[in-house]
Amino acid sequence: MAESKMVHSPLVTYVSVLSLLTLCPPFVILLWYTMVHADGSLSQTLGYLRLHGLQGLINIWPKPTAIAWKIIASYSAFEALLQIFLPGKRVEGPLSPAGNKPVYKANGVAAYAVTLITYLSLWWFGIFNPSIVYDHLGEIFSALIFGSFIFCIFLYIKGRVAPSSTDSGSCGNIIIDFYWGMELYPRIGENFDIKVFTNCRFGMMSWAVLAVTYCIKQYEANGRVADSMLINTILMLVYVSKFFWWEDGYWNTMDIAHDRAGFYICWGCLVWVPSIYTSPGMYLVNHPVNLGAQLAVYILIAGILCTYINYDCDRQRKEFRRTNGKCLVWGKAPSKIQAAYTTTTGETKTSLLLTSGWWGLSRHFHYVPEILAAFLWTVPALFNHFLPYFYVIFLTILLFDRAKRDDDRCRSKYGKYWKLYCEKVPYRIVPGIY
Ligand code: NDP
Repeated sequence: MAESKMVHSPLVTYVSVLSLLTLCPPFVILLWYTMVHADGSLSQTLGYLRLHGLQGLINIWPKPTAIAWKIIASYSAFEALLQIFLPGKRVEGPLSPAGNKPVYKANGVAAYAVTLITYLSLWWFGIFNPSIVYDHLGEIFSALIFGSFIFCIFLYIKGRVAPSSTDSGSCGNIIIDFYWGMELYPRIGENFDIKVFTNCRFGMMSWAVLAVTYCIKQYEANGRVADSMLINTILMLVYVSKFFWWEDGYWNTMDIAHDRAGFYICWGCLVWVPSIYTSPGMYLVNHPVNLGAQLAVYILIAGILCTYINYDCDRQRKEFRRTNGKCLVWGKAPSKIQAAYTTTTGETKTSLLLTSGWWGLSRHFHYVPEILAAFLWTVPALFNHFLPYFYVIFLTILLFDRAKRDDDRCRSKYGKYWKLYCEKVPYRIVPGIY
């Protein structure tokens, strides 16, 4: 078994483990409560908590009801069946630290299209009204919080007793193993990849499904959809569509190729993505701001442009690696570094690092348009309340931390070659500033 390493120092890890475990679940409930029952006003919720204390939180915490479990179970089963049965190209993932190459079936676009068409058809033909999902949102989040925790325990036990590959192992501390995960590519049977399910088909798909849900709820409540809601929904759908278009590229990123399946990534995708990532839309349901056609179109164009640039950064890296550097980057032959590294089994391998195009501006330039796009689908909410902006602030902190984590990991993987890259491309995220 390969030894798993701690990503942060033990102190940072313990603090983040404890805060994630204790603060995130109540935060999800308080965010939902504020958006749906407290007019989106953080001060109203804080006033309520000041008055009623912990008992107040317990009182507003919805019980996971039978209908919530039914909605989650039907959605999960539907997505799992699409993942298993829809046809798709065979795609190989990157070489893992233990020298394995996971194989995937790239059917994300088909699953995305089938999901949205099915959901909209259920509404259109009067079979299932998405407003029901919005009306039971608190109970659904509550069920997800507990259900996903149990699922993470299952992942831990599976990693211990029945790992799917040699890319699995313990760091010797049960809490850290539970938090960062045991297995890199856990599977059920040979083909059902658990991380593809949790991160892509459950988490990212729920983002699109809930964006549509919020839009329909506003329509059902008011008989019309405000332009702010429309822009928010379109921009979030453009972003999620981009994600599924590029899904096999995602299988080469840190989330899949480096982060093990534990509480950090899996609980995040099963609970945090549906609740926090969709929260600007959740706010807009009861706040139908009217932007006017001109402003709405400007925000829409800027948002699409940012998502496109973010996509193009990822595409450039993927194409560069796929062609082994034999492609054009911004119309020219790419400049690159041939970086040697050693796998955990002691073999020497090489990777190419692109040092021109987007990847020559800064080492993680792709995070800039990612953050801007999130700001642009939130700004239709205007500035009456702070809470709709929570996701953008969270994302900024997450990506700055991620850039550091990735730099640290690449430094230890590539050594002097990474140092060379840092000399050629000195900024971490924002060119000329950071
Ligand atoms: P990536 O994994 O795509 O990029 C980092 C990896 O790429 C490194 O670990 C390294 O891996 C390789 N690499 C680094 N520099 C170079 C280079 N110059 N040339 C070639 N390869 C290089 O990053 P992320 O997973 O962070 O991001 C992927 C996408 O997901 C982005 O669009 C990002 O914005 C988005 N994202 C969104 C989040 C959200 O919550 N909304 C969160 C995180 C990401 P190797 O070991 O192979 O060399």
